[in-house]
Amino acid sequence: MLRKILYVAAALVVVAVVVFFGFVPGIIDKKINTTIHRTNAADRVSWYDSIPFIADLHCDELLWHRDLLAHHSYGHVDVPRMQDANVALEVFTIVSKTPRDQNYDHNSDKTDQIALLSFAQLRAPADWFSLKARALHQCEDLHESAKRSKGMLRVITTRPELQQYIKDRSADRSLTAGMLGLEGAHCLENDVNNLDTFYHIGVRYIGLTHFFDNEWGGSAHGMDKGGLTAKGKELLHRMEKLHIMIDLAHQSTRTIDDIFSNTTGTLMVSHTGVRGLCDNGRNLTDAQIKEIGRRNGIIGIGMWETAVCGTDASATAHSIKYVADLIGVDHVAMGSDFDGAVNATYDITGFTEIVKELITLGYSRADIEKIMGGNVRDFWLRNLPE
Ligand SMILES: [Zn+2]
Repeated sequence: MLRKILYVAAALVVVAVVVFFGFVPGIIDKKINTTIHRTNAADRVSWYDSIPFIADLHCDELLWHRDLLAHHSYGHVDVPRMQDANVALEVFTIVSKTPRDQNYDHNSDKTDQIALLSFAQLRAPADWFSLKARALHQCEDLHESAKRSKGMLRVITTRPELQQYIKDRSADRSLTAGMLGLEGAHCLENDVNNLDTFYHIGVRYIGLTHFFDNEWGGSAHGMDKGGLTAKGKELLHRMEKLHIMIDLAHQSTRTIDDIFSNTTGTLMVSHTGVRGLCDNGRNLTDAQIKEIGRRNGIIGIGMWETAVCGTDASATAHSIKYVADLIGVDHVAMGSDFDGAVNATYDITGFTEIVKELITLGYSRADIEKIMGGNVRDFWLRNLPE
């Protein structure tokens, strides 16, 4: 009898383990990276597939441990869907720590949801405890996907690589490329010397904070929402020397002001909205938009409700127009936040709908081509290291 009970108990443990590790990560992914609308490919603007370079500045796909090369019916981005949507470049961003009960107003750094996710995804034990290890592993995942892709996906880290890619892709529209960015510099684990490691693995933009204040600066969603720390200033100067762009998304107002007064270089916002149309502490003020424009920077507009105060492509297009009206059409781009635990307006195939809305707003084909990716291409051609 005792033996029978032990067998049943052991079987239940095995089932629990299989369910936990086999299904839970996928269930979370499907549940929190959702899409409001679906696109109809037959309904595309006739010249959509001729747009030379469509690009997006922000996507968290690497967090989910999916096969980037396989088509998925859930989530927002994979290489087959990029090919379907004629997308040339996606910037894959590394999320390394998020708080429990994450919200837009007040978050502390006390909890770490990504530790649990790393465990459930059966990532290497180092990833359960080290922010640096889990961030580097996500970066390696992109390189590994590129290796497996037989040339379909490449990772861009320098200007010559981008120039070569633009040339190759003009002959073959099925090619795709990825770049790397960090969403929060806490994965440097409080050591500026770790910047070199992330530079060498290909990271080309960094937002100093994500949902909580950290050792480098204040977050728009932190407890104190302070400015840059002394170490944060040192990190920025090192980033500038390495041609790593500074991303202002998620930064507190004081941190953004400190970045304005402590640096002179180009700035970017990888995924955001504008307070003029959608007033919350995460979105950009007119004064911030103007300063980024004055520095020849770029602003990526999001495709989720709290960024653009709407759940259709028209809301994103209106926020794009707001930026273009303030600082010119050369400084605005797509910054979707795909796979960033958001209920996105569309998955990546929905860029076709943004094009339609921009036509409705009166933009020329030349200007739409800039907004949909030409500006991102030119931004990186100006700012990537040699
Ligand atoms: Zn974000």
